Amino acid sequence: MEYAIPKGLYDVLPVVSHEEDLWRLSTRWQYVEGIIRELARNYQCQEIRTPIFERTDLFLRGVGESTDIVTKEMYTFLDKGERFMTLRPEGTAPAMRAFVEKKLHTLSPIHKLFYIGPMFRYERPQAGRYRQHTQFGVEMVGSGIPEQDVEIIDMACEFYRRLGLKDLTVMVNTVGDKESRVAYKQALKDYFSSHLSSLSEESKIRYDKNVLRILDSKSPEDQEALTHAPTITEFLTPSAKHHFTTVCELLGDLELQWQINPRLVRGLDYYNHTVFEIASMHLGAQNALGGGGRYDGLIATLGGPNLPSVGFASGIERVLQAMHKQGVPFPTPPGPFVYFIGLGEKARRILMPLIARLRHADISVEIDLFGKKIQQSLQLADQSKATYALIIGEEEIQSQKAMLKEMATRQSIPLSLDGLFSELVELHNESKQKTGTI
Ligand code: AMP
Repeated sequence: MEYAIPKGLYDVLPVVSHEEDLWRLSTRWQYVEGIIRELARNYQCQEIRTPIFERTDLFLRGVGESTDIVTKEMYTFLDKGERFMTLRPEGTAPAMRAFVEKKLHTLSPIHKLFYIGPMFRYERPQAGRYRQHTQFGVEMVGSGIPEQDVEIIDMACEFYRRLGLKDLTVMVNTVGDKESRVAYKQALKDYFSSHLSSLSEESKIRYDKNVLRILDSKSPEDQEALTHAPTITEFLTPSAKHHFTTVCELLGDLELQWQINPRLVRGLDYYNHTVFEIASMHLGAQNALGGGGRYDGLIATLGGPNLPSVGFASGIERVLQAMHKQGVPFPTPPGPFVYFIGLGEKARRILMPLIARLRHADISVEIDLFGKKIQQSLQLADQSKATYALIIGEEEIQSQKAMLKEMATRQSIPLSLDGLFSELVELHNESKQKTGTI
């Protein structure tokens, strides 16, 4: 198709024709977004919205020049003023850029921010990996104490719990403070130097640029060397060790299932102390649902004050796909209260002002615009999940009476045409009281 959607992108749609596309249903996206907003309220997080593109330099500094995101995956372009701009590949650097630029730290010592929005990465498209994906992210700024790390891990787990996701693995690790990392990186360099010839090309590059990232490698040729690589535990400074031990103790006090994974480092350069990742056993190779960690130096790197911060981000596509694979039920959105069928122009002329009034009175109604056979119109009424259907034709206009048909029971209620508006409003109020939903 000449105008087909570019590779690695997808549409979110009101209806889909294939079972495997159910995760694209806009009602499902809205449901997850609703849960995010409720969760944010419970954890006292406030929304931040930043632009879709930023100066390229922000990501070079804020994400790190040795990361895959920066080296291979950024959508960068020159604007008409010959400035390099990049479609945001992640949300933390932009949020912190806004934080620094608007000096939010002067307004309150603690900030808890969240966002939902598209991210762009030029990756090889495959199941669960897109060139535009959507992230729900949280950034908590201002506290360096372990409780803040635990608060965000708990929030991430609670997000998945509220969605009904099961069979998750929650992995936690520390990448220590700067001093611990210097010692650990040296130990890794010493260790990998004797394995260099057998390492993958990618890991050879990482060896020079950021040896820690070799631990992230999924290449089969690296796995042997990785199994015996030193772990950071023995290189932690006393304060880094204390921070991590406290995080683990506090996590132990919560009703959470989690484990330490000493190889977990995460892809971005700005992490220190706690890092964590949550994966679903129901997804294939791309099983990471979300992850995060502490990034105390980032705000200062971007020219702001030296404030500690911790963050988390989750992909929404993978969340919806995992929910689908696991058979998590989604609430079905309600149909119209009344589906009106007007047989002929005259009848529709009567119905148009009526449906406008009902809609203005905050009642959801639908009018049949198919206007052909009554049986087909009734089928559409059924499909729309309407509570009632109301048919008006020549006969009803003559007698000034119509039958309101309850779709579930097929019972009919006679109504007079001139009192239709107030009767329907009353009926709507009654059913609202009964169900509390319509
Ligand atoms: P990251 O910033 O790489 O840790 O990504 C955070 C989360 O976003 C991941 O755990 C995934 O759920 C999701 N994610 C990252 N990249 C992609 C992608 N290319 N396509 C779909 N989801 C993604």
